[in-house]
Order: sequence, then structure tokens, then C-alpha cells
Amino acid sequence: MVVGGDAAGMSAATQARRLRTAAELQITVLEQGHDVSFSACGIPYWVGGQVAGRNELIARTPAEFAAQDISVHTGTRAAGIDLAAGAVVTEHGTRFGYDTLVIGTGGRPTRPPIPGLDAPGVFGVHRLEDGAAIRTAIDAGARTGLVLGGGYIGLEMAEALLARGLAVTVVLADPLPMQLLDADMGERVCAGLRAMGIVVHTDSAVREVLLDGDGRACGVRTDGASYEADLVVLGLGMGPEVTLAADAGLALGVTGAIDVDRSQRCRDHPEVFAAGDCAQTFHRVSGEVAHVPLGTHANKQGRVAGSVIGGRPARFAGVLGTAVTKVGDLEVGRTGLCTTQAEEAGFAYRTDVIEATTRAGYFPGAEDVAVKLVSERGSGHLLGAQVVGGPGSAKRIDVLATAIWAGMTAEDLAGSDLSYAPPFSPVYDPVAVAARAVSRTEQG
Ligand SMILES: Cc1cc2nc3c(=O)[nH]c(=O)nc-3n(C[C@H](O)[C@H](O)[C@H](O)COP(=O)(O)OP(=O)(O)OC[C@H]3O[C@@H](n4cnc5c(N)ncnc54)[C@H](O)[C@@H]3O)c2cc1C
Repeated sequence: MVVGGDAAGMSAATQARRLRTAAELQITVLEQGHDVSFSACGIPYWVGGQVAGRNELIARTPAEFAAQDISVHTGTRAAGIDLAAGAVVTEHGTRFGYDTLVIGTGGRPTRPPIPGLDAPGVFGVHRLEDGAAIRTAIDAGARTGLVLGGGYIGLEMAEALLARGLAVTVVLADPLPMQLLDADMGERVCAGLRAMGIVVHTDSAVREVLLDGDGRACGVRTDGASYEADLVVLGLGMGPEVTLAADAGLALGVTGAIDVDRSQRCRDHPEVFAAGDCAQTFHRVSGEVAHVPLGTHANKQGRVAGSVIGGRPARFAGVLGTAVTKVGDLEVGRTGLCTTQAEEAGFAYRTDVIEATTRAGYFPGAEDVAVKLVSERGSGHLLGAQVVGGPGSAKRIDVLATAIWAGMTAEDLAGSDLSYAPPFSPVYDPVAVAARAVSRTEQG
């Protein structure tokens, strides 16, 4: 049995099916929504008009899974798990017995107790239905949009609304957008947003959603000001959806997500697996437990669970929290530990920031890019990295993530055989320039 039919759940199901025939293993998926294997990641680009239609965000349909002998029940919410009997009970009382259960219930958008947050005109960005509702509001003539929160989902939605011609204001409680960047890199993002014409109000916790005479959201109030808008979009973060697991008595970890071992098995119930946004994991650099809700992790964790269920040993190797995003032409990447995380993990660290260009300086389209490295003092081991710059910047984070994953020092990276041609990079790639800045001074 699999509960939850998106990245984690369907990765587990398909991987188990690759390893076991239908005669050996019966696989049933319960999904409360209408779709399985959908891309929430694509919602901002669908709203913004870069992706033509909803169906393009659906990787595979229940019928396609049925052809693989994976039985999918959509519109079917699991309401309880009977761990003792080995059964999942749906909201309509149907019982599905299992030998092995995968919980892939995903994430739950953070919704602080702000008056008016549930009013019409306030939109979450979690499921395809949310994207459809925002598109409908825009098509109906919305001219102004407020985005609450400065995480990557909020910023991607700000770009989407801007692309659809709305005047956009981002209101966030934090001093800067993108809290998983250091302040100096977050300032670059903030400046980039403002340069695009997006109004950004930082240090502005929203106290109330303002309602018009029909009870519809028409703005928000912070301590110091009120901002009007035709629609309000929530990007306030994502926690784990663990109601089903917690009610069943499965153990949660300190992050509030389901506690699993490296095979994605629940420690207290090894016949139950959990994967994706609902599951706790560990940070590969700090070694500490973590909850990092990203599709990249959900797919891999689901695959690990499916492998183990299919009889092939597998272990999840941890996360670095590698993530990329863009707002207009401004690209952002981050991986590993930012300075606050390095501090909390007890590292003696140093930081180095370099400025370079994405292509040879003389080549058309060369854009500024800043690379920041967080490295361990003395050893030069790379702990984290951040990249902010023009087109061609963000995916450079993958080289840095790979270096951190492999335990490389800045000196190792500086000496690596990275590619060069004028349309792609300067002779020394910005990544290598940053690594050289560390290794030069670490060596004295
Ligand atoms: C707007 C947006 C943009 C994103 N962009 C990126 C990106 O660019 N890169 C990236 O790596 N990640 C991105 N993410 C995060 C990524 O989408 C998630 O990490 C990923 O979808 C998690 O997969 P999951 O299977 O764990 O959970 P989910 O995708 O949340 O799926 C869980 C499923 O379980 C179902 N379910 C829950 N409870 C029950 C129940 N009781 N019974 C039956 N079904 C149930 C839900 O309906 C849902 O379909 C983005 C997320 C959003 C919202």
C-alpha cells in the first residue's frame, strides 16, 4: 500500500514494480486528489504563462500506472492506519490490508493564525487546483497581487504575477528574502526584485488580511502599514503533513516529520516506510537531522523505499539542501550550510565572495555573477555555497554541490578540470575563482 500519489509515493511504487512482478507484489496507491505524479514545481510557470496547460504538469496518469500493474485510487483519502492489523482505512470506511506500507503524504503549507487568511481571494500554491484558481482570478481581471513570504515559492509566484501584467508587492516578516541565503546574498536578491519593479516590504509581519464588503480579501495589514491588492498569494513555507502517521502512533522526529532510518523505514514499525516531504532526513555536512521539503529528495527517498520493498538493499545518502530558482533574469542557487547553519553545527568557518561573469567578459550576454563559499577553517573543506547572478548562474551550484558531496577541499576544486569556452564561462569559471580565493589564503 502507498498513501500519497506524487513524487515520493509514485517513485516508491514504480521502483518496487521494476524489481517485482505483479504476481510477486500487489501495489495499490491511495491518493486523495484528482491527479497523481503532478509537478507542483511547475505551478508558478503555468500561472505565469510559460507552461501552456495543466496537463503538461502531469507526468503520468492513473491509467498509465495501471498498465504497469500499479492500482491507483484517486479521490480516496486515507483517514486512518491500523498498525496492529496492517490496514489503511479510507474516509468512507473501506479497509485496505497491507504487508508493507509507504507513507508519502507530502507537505502542508504553513498557515499562521492570521485573521482573514481563509477568505476568498487568498490563494495557496500547493496543488494544481491552487494554480487553476489563481489563473482564474487573473483572467477575471486582477490587476494587483500581494505575495506573502519571501521563500522561493513566493518569489517564483511574484515573477508569475508580474509576467501576467499585475503590479506585485512582496511582504515578508524576515529582514530579507530567501532565508537560506546569507544576508549579503539575500540583499542581492532583494535588489534584483526591486530592479524588476516588484515592491518588497521586509520586516513586515502580516497581522490581518483585509476584507471588502463581500468578505473577499482586498489587502493586508502589517504593524506599520496596509497594502491593497486584488489577490493575495501565500508563500509562507512548508511543514510536513503527518496527521495520518501521528494519529496512528508512528514516531515523529524533532523536526516534526516522520522519523525514519536511512532505508526510509519507520524505526518503531519496520513494515512502514515514509518518504518525501512528510519524512525527516539528515544533513550530509552537519550530520544533523533535517526536514528539507524538495522534490529532488522526495523522488530519491521514494526510490530508496521502493528498492528495499522490492528486495534490493538501498540507503538514502542525506541532503545538502541544494536548490535553484529564478526571478526574471536573476538566478539563485544554494547548497550545503549557510553561515548560520555552519555556526549552529559548530564549525569554525570562513566565507569568501567573488564577483565574476557568466561568460567571457567580451562575449555577448555575459552577466554578473557572485559566488559565495563557506569553508572550514584550516582544512579548507567546502561546507556550503551560494550563487546569485544573471542567466547561466544558478546551475553552477551543481558543481559546488558535487564538490561538497564528495568531501572536496577548496584547493581540490580550484585544481579541478572545469570546462571553458567564451560563450559558457571565463577561462577560470566563477566556481574555480571562488575556490582559488579560499585555497590561496588557507595555504597562507
Ligand atoms: C509551488 C511549488 C514549487 C516547487 N518547486 C520546486 C522546485 O523547483 N524544486 C524542488 O526540488 N522542489 C520544488 N517544490 C517542492 C516539491 O514539489 C515537493 O518537495 C514534492 O512534491 C514532495 O513530494 P511528496 O510526494 O513528498 O509530497 P506531495 O507532492 O505533497 O504529494 C503528497 C500527496 O499525498 C496526498 N495525500 C496526503 N495525505 C493523504 C491522505 N491522507 N490520503 C491520500 N492521499 C494523501 C496528497 O494529495 C499529495 O498528492 C515545489 C513545491 C511547490 C508547492
